[in-house]
Amino acid sequence: MSVPENYVYLDWAATAPLCEEAAQAMAPYLVPGPRNLQANGNANSLHSVGRAAFTGMEDARMAVSRALHADRPTDIVFTSGATEADNLALLGITRALLRQRRAAGKPAAGTVITTTIEHDAVLSVLPLLREMGVHVVQLAPDRGGFIQPEALQAALDAADDPLLVSVMLANNEMGAVQDIERLTHIAHEAGALFHTDATQALGKVPIDLRELAVDAASFSAHKICGPKGIGALYLKAHTPIDALIYGGGQEGGLRSGTQNVVGMAGFAAAMRAAVAAQPQEAARERALRDRLYQALCQVPGVRAVVDVPEGSERYLPNIVDVTVDGMESETLILRLDIAGFAVSGGSACSTGSLDPSHVLTALGIPRDRALGSLRVSMGRYTTEDDIERFIAAFAQAVGR
Ligand code: PLP
Repeated sequence: MSVPENYVYLDWAATAPLCEEAAQAMAPYLVPGPRNLQANGNANSLHSVGRAAFTGMEDARMAVSRALHADRPTDIVFTSGATEADNLALLGITRALLRQRRAAGKPAAGTVITTTIEHDAVLSVLPLLREMGVHVVQLAPDRGGFIQPEALQAALDAADDPLLVSVMLANNEMGAVQDIERLTHIAHEAGALFHTDATQALGKVPIDLRELAVDAASFSAHKICGPKGIGALYLKAHTPIDALIYGGGQEGGLRSGTQNVVGMAGFAAAMRAAVAAQPQEAARERALRDRLYQALCQVPGVRAVVDVPEGSERYLPNIVDVTVDGMESETLILRLDIAGFAVSGGSACSTGSLDPSHVLTALGIPRDRALGSLRVSMGRYTTEDDIERFIAAFAQAVGR
């Protein structure tokens, strides 16, 4: 399918188009034929072809670790994306901690604390943790979408042997940016490790892993204009963790399988570009976000999911989340698609039945209202003109 020339993509939080920097970094790997050493190398082979691939891989690891201010390149474990990174962090760290307790003759149990607004890549792991004998506590956000430090403190005080806390850096639906530095400090004081899903925050808010002081953080390339199918788990040195995928022992034994060097090269280039442009780009997108909230909420029956004050840096600069009374997201998405705009709804449609978004439900938004949610998300190629055209099309699609 080719996209019409004037079609406007406003679903960047779902995935972002590949950027020039990533495409250029990957191009040498995509030259077909037996003479292309970079494309042909297995980064684990001893010969020069393998060593060329290894160099490409380690350059990418270095670039990613520098962009995130990690202590060492080896703190970066490449994965297939943020879903795998989240799974590895939650399951892998919990398993390792339980094993340590067993070895010390202690009960293999404890508490994992997370929130009700995490991505499914975290939420879907929680039943598995419970099966492992772990007590799982989910903190609810306040009406603004924030996890209050006091709520974490109370959960830790009440917890039987807190093992791990996992709170996302920024939410993928309504964009709340959590105070991870403070939450990490509280978790560490209580003896728990801390993981954050930083997938949506990357390139949108400044990320300095040394300042955040988290033990683990998940990232994905395709949200920052890199290729799909590659991401990373940052792991602070000496963090206990077990692998989920077993085989040849690649990625320090944590992620077996021949490495995706072309993906890593694209990820690193996208990361460098996104992090370098972050301050200016965030300011530019924030102005577009404010304009959108102001214009969309003037349409009768349209309300912001969270109250985002103009210029606020407590919410992502690129996400606008509203509900439209008396309309279903699906209808709106399809009408807007026909009008030439790609957006998304907060609700997932499974086997014909519409479920309201768990994030909107967690915010206390009633089901009827949550079913009419619409998320507009932007990125580096979004222009003011795109936004003005969208505002006009939105009013028409809503029919008010
Ligand atoms: N975590 C968050 C917050 C996300 O927004 C996403 C993407 O949808 C993921 C995890 C999953 O990322 P990936 O598609 O790289 O597996």
